[in-house]
Amino acid sequence: MARTFFVGGNFKLNGNKQSIKEIVERINKASIPQNVEVVLCPPAPYLDYAAGLVSKPQVSVGAQNAYYKAAGAFTGENSVEQIKDVGAKWVIIGHSERRTLFKETDEEVAEKTKFALDQGLGVILCIGETLEEKKAGVTLKVVETQLNAVIAQVKDWSNVVVAYEPVWAIGTGLAATPEDAQDIHASIRKYLSEKLGADVAEKTRILYGGSANGSNAVTFKDKKDVDGFLVGGASLKPEFVDIINSRN
Ligand code: PGA
Repeated sequence: MARTFFVGGNFKLNGNKQSIKEIVERINKASIPQNVEVVLCPPAPYLDYAAGLVSKPQVSVGAQNAYYKAAGAFTGENSVEQIKDVGAKWVIIGHSERRTLFKETDEEVAEKTKFALDQGLGVILCIGETLEEKKAGVTLKVVETQLNAVIAQVKDWSNVVVAYEPVWAIGTGLAATPEDAQDIHASIRKYLSEKLGADVAEKTRILYGGSANGSNAVTFKDKKDVDGFLVGGASLKPEFVDIINSRN
């Protein structure tokens, strides 16, 4: 079964009404394939606005984080219900910036993932190793540990998309080579197969993230375990359309 090509745009803490309108309108006007799924993830204050601007069925909106409690005295957090209420369909969980800067643990990432899935949001689950871990040769051990925490809590993976994002590649301009990404993605799929079964592994999309851009995206085209991209910086620019079109 072919996996639908998936491109996420992680705007991070960037943008305003003007720039977000320009980005969404550019995608609304662009010619993009039917068989692609695009998820735009603006900062939470703009989710409602962005969701209202999107006009293509292949395009939806996602949040960059969500809390694991439904409601209550949790100042500063955003709930899954609120994210859904404003029209978002997805949430990014476990981005390396959340893990590093905001000290999110594997267990919190797992708890957030489970809660969001249980309430009906799709989850873009981010995993990846640091440069030190890569140099130490423990990349697979790191991503397996990150996955394990989620596997322990989540049995239904049909609304999970895994984003392999090596931390050393994020925002550095130094993307992984397509060959290296393919190797890691194949290992991640093998691991999912061992833990969750061949069917789940075969259906789960595994995205590459880390300095993906309008020029290098096409070089991943023939990598069979790379099912799309999670894009940071380039998702704010016109070249995002080239990434969306890089499979066709
Ligand atoms: P980048 O970020 O494309 O700017 O490297 C990717 C990400 O953090 O998801």
